[in-house]
Amino acid sequence: MTAQLERDMQAIAAGEKGYDEVTAASRELLERVFDDLTESREAIGDQLQESLKADKTLGPCPECGSDLLVRQSQAGSYFVGCDGYPDCEYTLPLPSTGKPLILEESCADHELRHVKMLAGRKTFVHGCPQCKADEADETADEVIGACPACNEAGDDSGGELAIKQLRSGSRLVGCTRYPDCEYSLPLPRRGEIEVTDETCEEHDLPHLRVHSGDEPWELGCPICNYREFQAREAGSELETVDGIGEKTAEKLQGVGIEGVEELKSADPDELAGDVDGVGPDTVRDWQANAD
Ligand SMILES: [Zn+2]
Ligand SMILES: [Zn+2]
Ligand SMILES: [Zn+2]
Ligand SMILES: [Zn+2]
Repeated sequence: MTAQLERDMQAIAAGEKGYDEVTAASRELLERVFDDLTESREAIGDQLQESLKADKTLGPCPECGSDLLVRQSQAGSYFVGCDGYPDCEYTLPLPSTGKPLILEESCADHELRHVKMLAGRKTFVHGCPQCKADEADETADEVIGACPACNEAGDDSGGELAIKQLRSGSRLVGCTRYPDCEYSLPLPRRGEIEVTDETCEEHDLPHLRVHSGDEPWELGCPICNYREFQAREAGSELETVDGIGEKTAEKLQGVGIEGVEELKSADPDELAGDVDGVGPDTVRDWQANAD
């Protein structure tokens, strides 16, 4: 159509065709196209629906052979469900972090396409959801100690903490009495977890070492690790002082002022000299605010 119009416009410019003639012809052409579109409305709709579904299709359902699709629960979480629902109720879980994207790559064993979870900086490849679920089913829970929540309650339930592999692909340290006891601690998604001989004296739990990448790293006691994580998330104690924000707290920590007590006992002139853009009077104000 564009090429035809281009030629017609040149013809008008050259005085070979009239303006009315060309617009009438264009109008006719457009009408024909619209008639075609309108007549094929249903076929086009079906086609669109098909390609939308293709974006969500992982592969065949092992129970009934229909398509397995990425679906969203009413609560908003994603999972894999069968297109044959409600006749077929086969499902597989997906990780709770991120939005699933179906990759071209597929699992040779299950003919299911791999899934990637889009979550900004935390984006990761989940892989084949069937493999992930099977792995979890085959991995026995590894008990590492007594459950503090159960022990605190003082019952003889015998709840223990264990490293658990979930069918959704995530891992955690959780109570063996789940779902009666919901105590849990997070673990990293990747890397093999080694239970070392070292013990946290405070919590009587073994230190954990994570093998991922080249160098293994020490996660330590899972309770201490989680506490440190929470403290980092909550920001520094310094931020509780009027006039100190996240950036300033970082600067102060950079020169060895970790907490409010250290801030109060610091020499204002010395500290001002150490921290860029901060005068001794500002330090005195913080110290006054900290009281
Ligand atoms: Zn099915
Ligand atoms: Zn698989
Ligand atoms: Zn427990
Ligand atoms: Zn500990």
